[in-house]
Amino acid sequence: MRRSHPSRATAWVAGYLVFVLAPLFALLIGTVGPARDFWTEFSAAIGYAGLAMMGLQFGLTARFRRVTEPWGEDVLYHLHRQLSLVAVALVIAHPVILFIVRPNLIGLLTFVDAPWRARFAVLSVVSLLVLVMTSLWRARLRMRYETWHHLHVVLAVAAVVTGLAHMVSWGFYLADPWKRALWISLTVFWIGLLAYVRIVRPLFMLRRPYTVTQVRAERGDTTTLVMEPDGHDGFHFEPGQFGWLTVWGGPFRITGHPFSFSGSAEAGEGSVEMSIRRLGDFTATVGTIPVGKRVYVDGPYGAFTIGNPADMHILIAGGVGITPMMSIIRTLADRHDNRPVILLYGATDWESITFREELDKIAGRLALTTVYVLTDPPADWTGERGFITADILRRHVPPPYDEHEYFICGPPPMMDSMETTLSTLGVPMSKYHSERYNFA
Ligand SMILES: Cc1cc2nc3c(=O)[nH]c(=O)nc-3n(C[C@H](O)[C@H](O)[C@H](O)COP(=O)(O)OP(=O)(O)OC[C@H]3O[C@@H](n4cnc5c(N)ncnc54)[C@H](O)[C@@H]3O)c2cc1C
Repeated sequence: MRRSHPSRATAWVAGYLVFVLAPLFALLIGTVGPARDFWTEFSAAIGYAGLAMMGLQFGLTARFRRVTEPWGEDVLYHLHRQLSLVAVALVIAHPVILFIVRPNLIGLLTFVDAPWRARFAVLSVVSLLVLVMTSLWRARLRMRYETWHHLHVVLAVAAVVTGLAHMVSWGFYLADPWKRALWISLTVFWIGLLAYVRIVRPLFMLRRPYTVTQVRAERGDTTTLVMEPDGHDGFHFEPGQFGWLTVWGGPFRITGHPFSFSGSAEAGEGSVEMSIRRLGDFTATVGTIPVGKRVYVDGPYGAFTIGNPADMHILIAGGVGITPMMSIIRTLADRHDNRPVILLYGATDWESITFREELDKIAGRLALTTVYVLTDPPADWTGERGFITADILRRHVPPPYDEHEYFICGPPPMMDSMETTLSTLGVPMSKYHSERYNFA
């Protein structure tokens, strides 16, 4: 998350509101049916607004760099979740209000006898409900991420298409052909965004494969993949950014996995490194990837990167959250940056500290101070223990706190606590960046 680019962020928020509200106001132009009571009109308005918001959800996850840059991908995914709850509430409130003010409409719920315009509404609402429930309770339902992802895409398309079919077949506000054309075009556009991510970008990636040139076992159940562009120049990334990796099954596979780049942005030749900790189905296979394997890397993404004015960099990492920090450290060393870097690094025990030896080595090339914080330290450990806390931060980071630039990546409780600590210390939000590894 990067809290800068305020003017671009404001422009995107304004654009979002225009996309939601303009098609709604367009309904009031031209032929409009006979006036109805306030609650019926209100319920129709929120139904249309809910559908427009649902459609725009496709845009939030379409990986457009210009959209994601002012916020960072994690913030957009969080927004995607929150906005879908608002949109679903609007869509569900639409029939609920109608049933209250016009109870005779409840009869339309008898799916078998109801006309198609009502069946479409039921299908849309049911798709939305299943979509929300499986997203909120995926872990509780023990659903594999990949299964959930497929279902999510199918349900989202079904909800939007049947919602549109309901509006067009009901026809009260869409009597004019141009209004129908407007809403149908909008729906095609929204679903086109999905087609862009799932078909156009993979086609582009198909022509830009990578070859795995090294598979390195690291401490802490982690494997580093070094990948070289095959027949193209690759892309330039900033330290701290991430890419979507597809190893098995080619770029059309629906579930790519996001991983931070762990190598130096100055490595040259388009080479990229990702350091991956074994956590589940896919990450468990990474150690078995053979050298020479063709893989696909879509990137770079994210706004978790250096570049703002700062007297020193403070990196706060927990567990595998060390990977973007390694990229920052390696890049600063390669750029001969002489500003101090303080790394507060939380790990379980001494043996599982990923990159421990390399951090020692880099300290010779960079003004790097590493503070390890271990939850399970060896008996003779004299360093910091437990979790990274406000006290530990104050002990190792010198004031003035608001002059430094901070980067936080690790388990959610650590990130929440560090964000609170920094704001208590008077560090403005523009001076700290967080990368959360849980989009889903
Ligand atoms: C921006 C970002 C950068 C990351 N960088 C690293 C890194 O450098 N090193 C590292 O080891 N891990 C990183 N992760 C986490 C990594 O993506 C997940 O651990 C990995 O995708 C888990 O896949 P799995 O099939 O092994 O595990 P699963 O058991 O399938 O999933 C474990 C959890 O990971 C999340 N997840 C799974 N698949 C995806 C997906 N395709 N997209 C988003 N989330 C998913 C879900 O919350 C899931 O509950 C990063 C995540 C994000 C969002």
